[in-house]
Formats: sequence, structure tokens, C-alpha cells
Amino acid sequence: MRHTSEQPPRPVLTVPVIPLPGEPVADAASTAPDGLTLGRRIRHFRNRQGLTLSELAGRVDSTTSQLSHVENGNREPRLSLITAIAAELGVSVAELLEPGPPPDRRAELEIALDRAQRSSLYAGLGVAPVRPGRTMPLNVLESLVALHTELARRAAEAIATPEEARRANTEIRMIMRTRDNYLPEIEELGEDLIRRAGYTSGALTHSTVSEMARTLGFEIIHVPDLPHSTRTVTDLANGRIYLPPASIPGGHGLRSLALQAIAHRVLGHTRPVSYADFLRQRLEITYFAATCLIPRSAAVDYLSERKRSRDLAIEDFRDAFGVTHEAAALRFTNLATSHLDLPLHFLRVSDDGALYKGYENDGVGLPADVHGAIEGQYVCRHWAARAAFERRTRTTEFHQYTDTPAGTFWCSTQTGRSDAGEFSITVGVPFNHAKWFRGRETARRAASGCPDESCCRRPATDLSQRWQEHSWPSAALHTQILAPLPSGTFPGVDDAEVYAFLEANAPSEGP
Ligand SMILES: [Zn+2]
Repeated sequence: MRHTSEQPPRPVLTVPVIPLPGEPVADAASTAPDGLTLGRRIRHFRNRQGLTLSELAGRVDSTTSQLSHVENGNREPRLSLITAIAAELGVSVAELLEPGPPPDRRAELEIALDRAQRSSLYAGLGVAPVRPGRTMPLNVLESLVALHTELARRAAEAIATPEEARRANTEIRMIMRTRDNYLPEIEELGEDLIRRAGYTSGALTHSTVSEMARTLGFEIIHVPDLPHSTRTVTDLANGRIYLPPASIPGGHGLRSLALQAIAHRVLGHTRPVSYADFLRQRLEITYFAATCLIPRSAAVDYLSERKRSRDLAIEDFRDAFGVTHEAAALRFTNLATSHLDLPLHFLRVSDDGALYKGYENDGVGLPADVHGAIEGQYVCRHWAARAAFERRTRTTEFHQYTDTPAGTFWCSTQTGRSDAGEFSITVGVPFNHAKWFRGRETARRAASGCPDESCCRRPATDLSQRWQEHSWPSAALHTQILAPLPSGTFPGVDDAEVYAFLEANAPSEGP
């Protein structure tokens, strides 16, 4: 049954907010049709007038081949030529140029087929393209386009190799670093939408999220039987967002899921064409949800006041907006540099020391592989992100100054537990910015020599000599991390840790 009240919501943004390398930066205000749509409109009106290419070419002082290029979207015609063509075809220039869909179903399919056949996905198949001539039956055209659509869907769905995933991740992290992890276009969009839904201050309520969805033409429906492989499902035809049952009290998870589902539409996302595109969309929807859950104006007011009082603390920021510690810390990275003049770093580290997520624009040396990927790399044992696991009492943040080859940093770490085990969330700043934070008076100080392996990665020489030939560890798999862990003697195994363990547990004497 179709929803009767509203049209399916239209996207608010029509261009990617984060252009990937090599992608043209489109003008957000530009809504003119692309060359192919224009060309197909010209062909449509030419056929309606019963004119051949050469007849029209003769009348507008052009050539058959030039006009053919125009109709196939291979050449942008000058405005004078468009004006002449419009006059000959008995339509206005606006009718040719105005934004909107192609003139008819056939033209729409021809454009879709042309785009599909120009894609790198298709080129990779090595199959000769077909030209959809006027004699090609419409149902053949329909079928071809449907095949291409399915092909693209399957390619996007295919599991990316760890190498691709790491490359794409690194690429996007580098782009975000140049932007101080801040996307003002999405900030403004999110804040505008929640204000229109009635948000005034403090934490964002479920009812405001529902109201916001309604103003965008969506109804939020909680169902107990979502497909296992999904987090949410959106029915675009009927303007419905299906979410899991509202059964997680206190968490911001459901609000965030609803906002992320809305975001795909609001941000004008189309099916991702590559793994990088998929990651970019994930980042954009997560960012959008964060701008709604912790709106910029309220957050900047709050944080600026805390900075003036020299009492900045992620735990308070978290509690003020009713989100998780990780969400608060990540949101802090969006706003800290642009609005508080603070360079900083963020780490999510699992209890074995492997980095799960990281961001920095303060020069702290994140562990990275030769390609610059950080996921799965071990963080220095002496950093706060790992030292915090040694504490007994973990209800408050853990503070530490760490001297590193890149300078001294002050870090604040909170530990937590998920289904996958314990993890720590760290926000750190260079020494001279510690003065704005609660916990700056800590007496805890550590020294880190990483990435020099003699700091904490290389086993002590005597232990190596003793154990190297007498140990056989079996690596644990990190299913939640995109890539294999850096290898020791055995792939994925931390030698220093293994040898220290063996030493500590060996009966009386070692080998
Ligand atoms: Zn170290």
C-alpha cells in the first residue's frame, strides 16, 4: 500500500560533501542538465519534428557529425547553437536547458545505458558496448539497464579486499585531516533540520528525531523482525524508515540509526560505486547524525565556556548531550580545531593495544604501516591509551603526560567494554594546550620512544635468545579490524608480549 500524504523526500544536497581524489568538485548550485541529458532532449524534439540529423544540421548551420556528438553528450554545444536548435525545433531554450528528468522513458534508459557502458566497472569486463539505436525494442533496453544496475549493485556489495579497504580508509582520513575533521556543509544542514523540528538546547530527544523525519517525509517505524544483515531499512517509495525495537534505554544508538538512515536521503547519496565511496557515505551519515545529536551551536557554546574556565572534559561533554564517550570524543575532534583553536588526536584502542580508529592533526606519531594505514597497528605500550587498562578503578578519565619523539602530549583516556572486549577512547593535545583541560595537574608522566622498536616492540635480547626457538604461539584473529595485524615471527603475533608471558609463566627455569 502506498503512503498517500507526501511525495518521497528529495535530497537536500546533490553533490558529495567530501570529494575523493581525482573526482571533480561539482558546483553545489549547478542544476543544469548534463551534456547527455541535453543531447537526449534535442534528439527527442528532433524526432518529434520528423527531422533527420543532417536536415537539422543544415538548418542550424552545423554539421551532421557535430550534432551527433552533441546528441550523444560528447560535446557541449555553445549557447548560440542551442538557441538556433531550440528555434528550429519549436521549443524554448529553457525547455532544453532546465533541470529535470529526461524527456521520456526511452531517453532515460538510453542515458542510463550510456553511463553504465562508460563506467570503469564495465570497461573492466572487456565486453563490447552496444549502441541503443532507434530500432532497439524498449523491453531490450529495459532489460540491459536492469542488468547493469544489478551488476553495479553486486560489485559495490562485494567484500573489498583488506588492501582496498585500508587504502580507502587512509585516503579518507588524509582528506579529513586537511579539513581538521570538520565539514561545515553538513553542520549547517543538520542544525537547520533539527531547529525546524523544534530543537532548542541540550540533548536531542527521540520525539525531535521523529518530528525531523516527518518534516522530511519519513515515518519512523520500529519492527522486531528486521533482516539480520541490516541495521535499518528505508522504504523510499512510501517514506518509511524501519528501525529495531526501541529497547535500549539511555543509549543514543536508535536516534543515531534513525538519523543515519535519514542522512542517506538528505545528503543525496546514490548507490556507492566503490569501497571508497561506501566509506565516504558512511563517514558523511555518521557526521550528519553527530551534528544532530550534538548540534554545533550548542556544543561550541558549551565547550567555549568550559575552555574559558579551563575545565574541558570529554566526560562532561558526553553527559551534557547524552551520547557515548566515543561519540563525544569524536564530536570533539570535529569542533576542537575550527572553533577552539586546539589541534588534537583521537584513538580507539582495543585491550591488546591494537588501534581500531585514529585521527590526529597535532603531529602525534600514530603507528602506521608503509602505506600510511593505521588500523590494526599497535600503539606504544607507554601511551595513555594502553596505560589506562592497568588501572583498577576506571569510572573516571585517566590522565597522563607522555614524552614522545614528536614532543610532549597530554592525554585523557576512558576505558569501556563492548561485545568484542575492552577498549579505550583517548583524546590528547600537545603539552601547551593541556592547560584548558581538567586533569592537567596529573603527576603521571611516561616516556615513549616509538616508532623506534627498541621502545616496547622488540623483545629483550636475553628473552629472544632464550625463547625464539622454543615457542609456538597461535595468533588470535581480529575480526573487527580491517586488516591483519603487523607480523612478528608468527603473523599477527606480538613477540615481545609472548616472550614476556612465557618467561613469567615458565616453571622455574626457561629453555
Ligand atoms: Zn613504545
